[in-house]
This record gives sequence, C-alpha cells and structure tokens, in this order.
Amino acid sequence: MLATGQNVKQLSFYVDGKWEAPSGRPAGTVVNPATGASIAEVPYADMADIDRAVRSSHAAFLKWRDVPVVDRVQVLYRYKALLEAHHADLAATLTSENGKTADDARAEVRRAIQMVEVACGMPSLMMGDSLNDIAAGIDCKSIRQPIGVCVGITPFNFPAMVPMWMLPFAIACGNTFILKPSEKVPLTPTYAIRLLHEAGLPAGVVNLVHGDKVAVDALLHHPLVKAVSFVGSTPVAKYIYTTAAAQGKRVQALGGAKNHLIVMPDADMPKTVEAIIGSAFGAAGERCLAGSILVPVGDAAGPLLDLLVARTRNMAVGDGAHDGVEMGPLVTADHCKRVAGYIEKGVAEGAVPLVDGRERKVDGSKEHFLGPTIFDHVTPKMTIARDEIFGPVLSVMRVNTLDDAIELVNSSPFGNATAIFTSSGKAAREYSSRCEVGMVGVNIGVAAPMAFFPFAGWKNSFFGDLHAHGKDGVAFYTEQKVIMSRWF
Ligand code: NAD
Repeated sequence: MLATGQNVKQLSFYVDGKWEAPSGRPAGTVVNPATGASIAEVPYADMADIDRAVRSSHAAFLKWRDVPVVDRVQVLYRYKALLEAHHADLAATLTSENGKTADDARAEVRRAIQMVEVACGMPSLMMGDSLNDIAAGIDCKSIRQPIGVCVGITPFNFPAMVPMWMLPFAIACGNTFILKPSEKVPLTPTYAIRLLHEAGLPAGVVNLVHGDKVAVDALLHHPLVKAVSFVGSTPVAKYIYTTAAAQGKRVQALGGAKNHLIVMPDADMPKTVEAIIGSAFGAAGERCLAGSILVPVGDAAGPLLDLLVARTRNMAVGDGAHDGVEMGPLVTADHCKRVAGYIEKGVAEGAVPLVDGRERKVDGSKEHFLGPTIFDHVTPKMTIARDEIFGPVLSVMRVNTLDDAIELVNSSPFGNATAIFTSSGKAAREYSSRCEVGMVGVNIGVAAPMAFFPFAGWKNSFFGDLHAHGKDGVAFYTEQKVIMSRWF
C-alpha cells in the first residue's frame, strides 16, 4: 500500500482488493501542517482509473448483494476490533496530515468507530414492514434492497469520521462503495481501508481512489454509479448535487456553514465561554459545526466578552501532536493565507478586533499557524459575517432580544448548526423550535448528532433529502420495494 522513501510515503489506489503500484500519474504532495514537512505523495486518478474502480465495484456488487446481511456485518465486527486496536496510530496519522490536536483526533476516530458499531445492527435496521390481509387473503410486505455502486467524496476536516458516515452503512446494506477522500488528507483514509482489507472484506466491495475534480467528474458521470454521498463546501456540494442528480443518481450533498452561537444574559458565563472556545477554535475552526458568529443578547455581551477575550488570549496554540495544545495549525498554507485575508478584510470593513490571531507567535510552520481571532461590532453586510471562513475567526454580532437573534439566524443562507446558551427552558425551547437550522445545541457548542441519529443542515448547508447516517443512512443506501401476495 505504501512505499516509503526519504520519509515521504507514496500512496496508491486500492482497487479490487489490491494496492496498485504507483504509476507516472501527476501527484499531489501531502504536508504536515505543524512542521511544513512533506509526508506523502498522492496520485490523482484519471478517467481510466475511475472506470476500472467502478467496474470492479459493479462486479463485486453482483455477488455482495446476495451475501446475507448477517454475514455482511461480520466483516464490520472484525473491522471494529481492528479500528479499536489501531485507534492511537490512526489518530496520530490524522494529526500529522490535518493538524488537529491529539485529543480531537482520538475523539474523531472514536466517532468513526461508532459509525461501524451502528452499521453492525443492519439486520434490524434494514427490516421492512408487513401487514397480512390488507384485503381478503392478500398480504403485503415492504423490503429494502441495495442500490448498487455507491460513491463517497469527502472533505479534509474529518478524514477518519466522514468516510464512515457512508462506507459502513453502504456496504452493510449490500452495496459496494468507492471512496474518494480529500487529496489534502489521504493518509488516514488509506490507513482505514488497509484495516478493512485486513478484516477480510471481499475484493471490490470497497475501492479507494484519490484525486481532484477530474476523478470526481468521472465518478459523477459514470453510468454504473447509482448513488453519490458528498461532504464539503457549498459551491462544490451544489455542483455535485445538480450534476449527479441530472445523471439520474441518488445524491446527498452536505455543504458549508456559518453557525450562530446565541448567548442569553442568564447563561452560565464561565461554562458558556469554555463551550464557545471549543466550538469556535477547536480544530482551528475547521469544523462544519464550528460556531463562527457569536450573538450576545441584551446585557450578555459585557460579562461574556471579558471572560472570552481573556481565555482566548491564553489558548495554547502549537503542534497538535504535543501535550496540552488546544489548537493546531490550519490544514494548508493556502487555506491559512485565505483565513488571514478574511481577518484583513474584517479590519478594513470596520469590525473591531478584540484578539488578532495574526499577532500570535507560534513555534512551527509560519505558513500554517494563525492564532484565534475575535471581532466585535460585526454587521450583517461585512464579508466576515457572510462568508464561511472555516478558520479560527469568531465574529460578534450584538442584538437586543431573542427575537432579533432568531431573525439574524434565519436570514443566513446557511442552516447547518447553532446553539443557545441560557438557563431558561422557555428561551431554549423557543429558539430550538423557531430557528431554521438542522442541528441545534442547548448549552452545547458543537451539537454533533451521533451515529444513530441523522446528520445534516438546512438551506445552503445541504442538498438532497436523506441526511447522513442513522435511519436516513439506511434509507439512502437502499431501494424500497413493496410486495403484495395472494395464494390461489
Ligand atoms: P471541498 O468542497 O473543497 O472538497 C470536498 C471534496 O470535493 C474533496 O474530496 C475534493 O477533492 C472535492 N472537490 C473539491 N473541489 C471540487 C470541484 N470543483 N469539483 C469536484 N470535486 C471537488 O471541501 P474541503 O475544503 O475539503 O472541506 C471543507 C468544507 O467542507 C467546508 O465548507 C465545511 O463546512 C464542509 N463540511 C461540511 C460538513 C457538513 O456536515 N455539512 C462536514 C464537514 C465539512
């Protein structure tokens, strides 16, 4: 799978149960963002590579769909045990290419394992319904059947977890699956697929390809691909949804976010501040659930911002692999530059920086580190209020009442996640019910649904019908059939 030369790993595709020898294809370089060192070369698939992977998946599907579900999930039980055994190494790999802290990486791998655990229950989850005597002597039942070759295209920020929102559900339902992970973080998915091979998955049931738009387009247009699951930025999610749906494929496309954190004057401020720090600056703000707009209501702003600014200045920023670090680097030098550009724009458009991350000195790659930033007095027209920044930048937008907060949140084109901090059940209930957002936290800064619940946002944060994992995952990866019988 991996050849190592001068500490730079050469990655390959995994197709039909075999790791392909690297060819002369154009490749990307994977960099450890904390140190700036190159750690891997990743090949980019062309149309012929994709065609080979899809044909292998299709051939495997014709056999795998007939394997009883109780036998299919045996592979996942073995896979779960292997993931547990490799938990620490997987997390270390994840930190080395993504930059998130060791704690965050371990928590992410735990979430990935939980997806596999839930998919192990597929014999119960994919059961249909039945009713005898729907008319005299006629019985009716509904069954769920797999749909065929399914594809997963995933982002850089959760390279262990997001592929597992899809893969275990897809294959437990009897489909075959092709993973095209982010080319920025291909090492963790490669590791995860190596373990799946060790678990004894038959050849072709899961294939792994790497690459960019060329690979994605080839997958979207391939006639043997029946379903596409995507997680990434909104413009690409929209493109994936429209392109794949126009080809008659089933699609779920989870997009970007701009998440509001509402703080009522009656909130427990010290606990709220810790939750905000985790939400806005955890994983360097590179989470689709990250709070990026802080909305203090009425008198909340004074006590909240005093505590928050002091705590933000004290955050430990550094190499995520080191103990005690609370925030690591951004994933690439380009992305770091882009986020710094937003800070510049915030200042130019009149927002007031309470903490400026550009001033933070950090040991490590100068091109990848940025400290946490807080802007006050941000207005709806400012670029930093509108765009998804996907970095450690928190914009404060003060409002007078809960109604104003709800209006602000509902005017956003995004609707991924939000949270309200309050000790009032009434305010929490009112907000949870009226906000137009898919995932809501009450005194929880990162409201990430677990594997047995569905995960997705509303509005421009999601394109499709069925959300990721949970019962929606089962519905997405199966076709329903209703059978009516009468016996003469
Ligand atoms: P991205 O959209 O740049 O890339 C995601 C995937 O799409 C990658 O595999 C990439 O290779 C591919 N891709 C990129 N550009 C493409 C194009 N033009 N055509 C076809 N494929 C293309 O996203 P990213 O930067 O890797 O991840 C960050 C984004 O993902 C953020 O916007 C974040 O909010 C979002 N995200 C959303 C969720 C969610 O649940 N809604 C979860 C995680 C991340």
